[in-house]
Amino acid sequence: MVDTASVPDAAGRFGQYGGRYVPETLVHPLRELEEEYFRAQKDPKFQRELDYYLREFCGRPTPLYHAQRLTENLGGAKIYLKREDLLHTGAHKINNAMGQILLAKRMGKTRIIAETGAGQHGVATATVAAMFGFECVVYMGAHDCDRQRLNVVRMQMLGAEVIAVETGQRTLKEAVNEAMRDWVTNVRHTHYILGTAYGAHPYPVMVRNFQRVIGDEARRQILEKEEVLPDLLVACVGGGSNAIGLFYPFLEDKGVAMVGVEAGGEGIEPEKHAARFQGGSVGVLQGTRSFLLQDEHGQIQSTQSVSAGLDYAAVGPEHAWLHDQSRAEYTYATDEKALEAFFKLSKIEGIIPALESSHAIAEVIARAPQMSSDQIIICNLSGRGDKDVAQVAEKIEL
Ligand SMILES: *Cc1c(COP(=O)(O)O)cnc(C)c1O
Repeated sequence: MVDTASVPDAAGRFGQYGGRYVPETLVHPLRELEEEYFRAQKDPKFQRELDYYLREFCGRPTPLYHAQRLTENLGGAKIYLKREDLLHTGAHKINNAMGQILLAKRMGKTRIIAETGAGQHGVATATVAAMFGFECVVYMGAHDCDRQRLNVVRMQMLGAEVIAVETGQRTLKEAVNEAMRDWVTNVRHTHYILGTAYGAHPYPVMVRNFQRVIGDEARRQILEKEEVLPDLLVACVGGGSNAIGLFYPFLEDKGVAMVGVEAGGEGIEPEKHAARFQGGSVGVLQGTRSFLLQDEHGQIQSTQSVSAGLDYAAVGPEHAWLHDQSRAEYTYATDEKALEAFFKLSKIEGIIPALESSHAIAEVIARAPQMSSDQIIICNLSGRGDKDVAQVAEKIEL
């Protein structure tokens, strides 16, 4: 069994992964953030305030919904969906954005920056910034701005400035670079709300702890409904925050298997996917040591996925650590399988899932029939598909 108490260590390492690989100017601010975060974590007043806003503003707890028709259709394990799609702004991202803005407030910062891929983290950040009266700038790859236009407009309506990043592949990696550059320059009054369980310490552990509310609730809910723990947890993995949020509270439960689903894009060939555990290797990118897609010279490879939120060359360090110990399994779904799952859940359950979450649903579709009817799957429905409607409509003739 994994020893969750031993990680991350004081240097933010999960075994050989994690750590803090940043320019000198960010070492001090990260240390300050780390100290303030751990103080806040132990402060009942901070926790009460966070609980209050998660409940009253974001809409927690989210239901653990028995997907009866999908279960019958697949004919195997009983399927539950953790409905993060029902949260305010439409995805799990707001759990973390809310935690971090309260921290920024505590630290006396006045300006917020963020990176975003599909735009869900940008929207969540713009939302909490508007709500607490912070200035907000969001960096987004120009290619992602095109394919997630709705979210760009939403952020602007919320009063955020959206900066389209035109460098490189014009997706998430470049947006993170620009956000880090901004942070180095403006760190005294600016907090960087990083959107996933990635980056330099303390981000991976802090974001995981803000997202573990997903797993904590799911655990309580399944025990109430079924009086047993689930057999399998399924979640999609971009940077890894929704997956680790669900997995973490179950890590010490031997009987609970877990599978993370990465973006298989057009298939597992170089530069055609974003499945870091298929063909990736250990390296350092954007502040942390983890599994990433790189060539033999350590150059980051371009990635491809129908889903902007999973389209990133590296994965959170805690997942790399869980992978090495075989505590969680990592697989992928191709664009094609994800789109099939997108339509299946829409038509059978009346729930249009985010393209990211559709990757997790694709794995449920593959696995449930191989399991018995007394077994239970919990699948994290990380977000809703409203943002993807235009993109999918373009791809497919209905
Ligand atoms: C951003 C996003 C993801 C991927 O990010 P993780 O940090 O891996 O969770 C998955 N689903 C949705 C709906 C998202 O918006």
